[in-house]
Amino acid sequence: MKLNFKQRLFFYFTVIFTLSIIGVTIFERNKEKVQKTETLEGILDVYTTTISSFLSKNPTDNFSNLDSLVSLFPSELRVSIIDKEGIVNYDNTIKNINILSNHAQRPEILALKTSNKGTDIRNSASKNQAYLYYAKDNGINFIRVALPYNINTKNLLKPDNSFVYFILIIYLSVLFLINSIINKFGKSVTQLRDFAIHAKVIPSENNFSDNELDEIGKKLTENYLLLEKSKNEVNAEKEKLLQHIHNSKEGICFFTPQKEVEFYNGHFIQYLHLITDSDEGNPNVIFTDKAFEKLHLFLKNSTSNFLDDKISKQGKIFHLRLVFFENKGFEIILNDITLQEKTRVLKQEMTGNIAHELRTPVTGIRGYLETILTQKLEIDKQLYFTEKAFLQTKVLSELIQDMSLIAKIEEAGYTFTMQAIHLKPFLEQIKEDYTLQFTEKRVQFTINIPEECTIIGNQNLLHSVFRNLIDNALRYAGNDTNITIYLYNQDADFCYFSFYDTGKGIEDEKHLSRIFERFYRVNEGRTRDMGGSGLGLSIVKNAIQIHGGTIYAKNRKEGGLEFLFHLKRA
Ligand code: ADP
Repeated sequence: MKLNFKQRLFFYFTVIFTLSIIGVTIFERNKEKVQKTETLEGILDVYTTTISSFLSKNPTDNFSNLDSLVSLFPSELRVSIIDKEGIVNYDNTIKNINILSNHAQRPEILALKTSNKGTDIRNSASKNQAYLYYAKDNGINFIRVALPYNINTKNLLKPDNSFVYFILIIYLSVLFLINSIINKFGKSVTQLRDFAIHAKVIPSENNFSDNELDEIGKKLTENYLLLEKSKNEVNAEKEKLLQHIHNSKEGICFFTPQKEVEFYNGHFIQYLHLITDSDEGNPNVIFTDKAFEKLHLFLKNSTSNFLDDKISKQGKIFHLRLVFFENKGFEIILNDITLQEKTRVLKQEMTGNIAHELRTPVTGIRGYLETILTQKLEIDKQLYFTEKAFLQTKVLSELIQDMSLIAKIEEAGYTFTMQAIHLKPFLEQIKEDYTLQFTEKRVQFTINIPEECTIIGNQNLLHSVFRNLIDNALRYAGNDTNITIYLYNQDADFCYFSFYDTGKGIEDEKHLSRIFERFYRVNEGRTRDMGGSGLGLSIVKNAIQIHGGTIYAKNRKEGGLEFLFHLKRA
C-alpha cells in the first residue's frame, strides 16, 4: 500500500516519537529500579552490619547465640554465616546445615572477591524458593542475608507506574499535535504534488497561505506559468521556422555534432536524390557519396566554420553550403542554381555582345569624323562622310532603343497595359507607314485577316513585333517579293497567325532555332551591313510571350521564311 505524504510524515514522526518515549521510559524505570534495589540493599546492609558487630562482640563457634538477634529481624529474613571455604556454618531457616552444599561458588559470595558486597536474585537450591541475596565479608566470615523474592519484594522493587501514565498522556497529546501540524503542511504539499503531477490545474495564489512551504509553492507556480508561456512562444517560433524551412526552395538538413540527422525538408532529399542517385531518402548518404568529396575533406580537417561548394550533376548545378553551429552541430544547405548560373553566363555574354555591337557604329562615326577633321576634302566628300556618320548614329540609336525595349520586356513586362485591338485596321495603319519602302522594293504586303478579329495586346509591343517582322522581310527577302499575314486558325482562347515572305528563307536550317537569340545573326558580316542590330527577333519572341503566345520560324517549301505565332483572343 502506497502511503501519501501526510500518512508517511505521520508514520515517521510517530515511530521516532514512540521510540524516544520507549527509550526514556526504559531508562527511567531502570533508574528507579536501581534506586529501589539500592534502598533495599541498604536495609539488608543494616542487617549484615548488625550481625557483624554482634558477632564481633559475642564470638562463638556454633553461632547458637545468633538466634536471639535474628529473632528480632523480620521473620522471612534468612541469615547465613559462611566461612572462607564456602561452608555454611549458620542458617536460621535450615535445621541441619550439614546438608547444605559448599557456597563458595554462589554469585553473591564470588562477588565479594572483587567488591565489598555481593547481591543476587535466584532460586535457593535448599529452599526451592527465589531469594534476593545480600552478602558482606566481615574479615572472618561471609555474612549473608536473604529475603524471599516474593510478591512483596517484587512490588518493593517495581518502579512506580505513575511515570508511565504521565508519559502516555504526553505521548498521546504529542501525537495529536503532530497530526494537526502534519495536516496543515500536508494540505500545501498535497496541493503542490497535485500541481506537479498534473501540471494543468494551476493553484490560484489564494490557495496558498504564507508559510515557507506555501511560498515555495507560490514561486513554483509563478515560474511554471512563466515557463509555460516561454515554452508556447518558443514552440510558435519553432513552428514558424519549420514551416519556413519546409516551404523553402533550398534543401536544408540539420545534423548533430555526431552527424545524426535532426531535421530535413523535402527539397534536401530531392536534390540529394538527383546528385547521388540514391532513392533511400536518407540524408546520411551525403557523408559517403563521392559527389560530396570536398565536404568529406572539410569535415575531416575543418579549420573554418563555413564551406561553400558547387556540384555539377545531371546537367544541373547545385550550390552546397555547410555552416557549423556553436555546439558543433551543423546545417547543410543544397540549392539548385542552374538557372541563376545560366542567367549569369548569359548576362556575361550579353555584356560582351553589347560592347561589341556598340563598338562597330561608334568606330564608324569616329572614323568618318576623323577623316573630315584631318583631311582637306571637297565639300561633296565632306557631305558624303557626314551622311555616313549620321547613318551610323541612326544605327546606334536604334540599337539603344532595341536594348532598352528588351530590358523593359524582361524586367518590367507587367508594366505593359493590355487592351483589345482590332488587328486588321491596326496592320493596315502599319502598312500605310511602309508605303514608300514597299513601293521602292516592289513588295506586295497582303493582310488576310477577318475584319472582326480582335486580340488582347499592347499597342506599342505589337507595333514592334510587326515592324521587326516587316523590316526583316524587306531586308532579307529582297525586292519583288510578297509579304503575307493571315489568320490560319482560331479556337476559344487564341488566334493563330502566319507571317511569311517569298524570299529565300534561311538556307541552313540549324539557324532556325537560334534566330530568336539576342545578337544572333545567320550571316554576321552581311546582316550587319544590312543594318540589323541582331535584336529584332529577340524582341518579337519576348513580346509574343508577354502576350501569352509562342512563335516559331520555318522555311516555306515554296521559298521564303514563315513565322507561326498565336495571340490571345479578346
Ligand atoms: P537582325 O537585326 O540582324 O535582323 P534579327 O534578330 O531580326 O536580327 O534576325 C536574326 C537573323 O535572322 C537575321 O540576321 C537574319 O539572318 C535572319 N532573318 C530574319 N528574318 C529573316 C527573313 N525574313 N528571311 C531570311 N532571314 C531572316
